[in-house]
Amino acid sequence: MENIIEIDNLIFEYSNDEFRHRAIDDLSLNVKKGEFVAIIGHNGSGKSTLSKNLNAILLPTSGDVKINGMNTKNESLLWDIRQTAGMVFQNPDNQIVATIVEEDVAFGCENLGIESSQIRKRVDDALKSVEMYEHKDRQPHLLSGGQKQRVAIAGIIAMMPACIIFDEATAMLDPSGRKEVMDTIKKLNKEYNITVLHITHFMEEAVEADRVIVMEKGKKVLEGTPRQVFSHIDQLKEIGLDVPYMTELAQMLNFSGIEIDKNVLTVEEMVGELCRLK
Ligand code: ADP
Ligand code: MG
Repeated sequence: MENIIEIDNLIFEYSNDEFRHRAIDDLSLNVKKGEFVAIIGHNGSGKSTLSKNLNAILLPTSGDVKINGMNTKNESLLWDIRQTAGMVFQNPDNQIVATIVEEDVAFGCENLGIESSQIRKRVDDALKSVEMYEHKDRQPHLLSGGQKQRVAIAGIIAMMPACIIFDEATAMLDPSGRKEVMDTIKKLNKEYNITVLHITHFMEEAVEADRVIVMEKGKKVLEGTPRQVFSHIDQLKEIGLDVPYMTELAQMLNFSGIEIDKNVLTVEEMVGELCRLK
């Protein structure tokens, strides 16, 4: 399978006359088309800096970032890169620009100069895919957090990106809003084959990914399937991260002498393990 994201020895430093801070420290990473990758790491580990390097909001201090083969350093490719790799941010209120839902969803396409009859169809399709079509005439500020975030996602989908980067897009939502958005993200990945990079501090969300990347001080410190990564409980705790609740519970049960598989990730797996003991 082809790589849609290629990051080679990326170093990114924030700097001005007085200071210099290395936020990404020699990170290399490839993501295949259609993959669902979760990125975890505690505050300040460089996740947002990495995501901003993926659609040329920030440019490498050294190293290269290529999206569908397009180097972000090539200014003439800026709009192609931004159309290929869309971003959804944490705060839905900061991403809504219009006073009517469907106008908001159309905004990105209008900026791309897409023909208006095309936009109409894209907006309708995008709203349907996030299950917000029946709200198309509403005012965004009257929607719930989860609904607003789905409108923001529709605005990105309407631009037909091959890849979407979600930078803690579920962090400000209540549990039901978070589930709505997670279900939408999974659907975009599974049904529309959109590549997903999902930055999150919810370990239960990271479990849903094909691959989990753990960042610490601008470096990639662990990488693998959710089961591989979350088996490193001690290392994760050392860098201030949690493991999924069920993994934690499995470990505690083991300490108490109940011999179940320590690598349990989900409620379903935990139920399976406990029933096996009967
Ligand atoms: P994360 O998203 O994982 O919380 P960030 O990418 O936001 O991490 O930040 C990585 C590091 O870079 C942190 O130490 C942070 O303080 C620093 N940083 C982030 N943005 C800026 C900025 N605009 N100027 C200077 N330092 C920054
Ligand atoms: Mg961040």
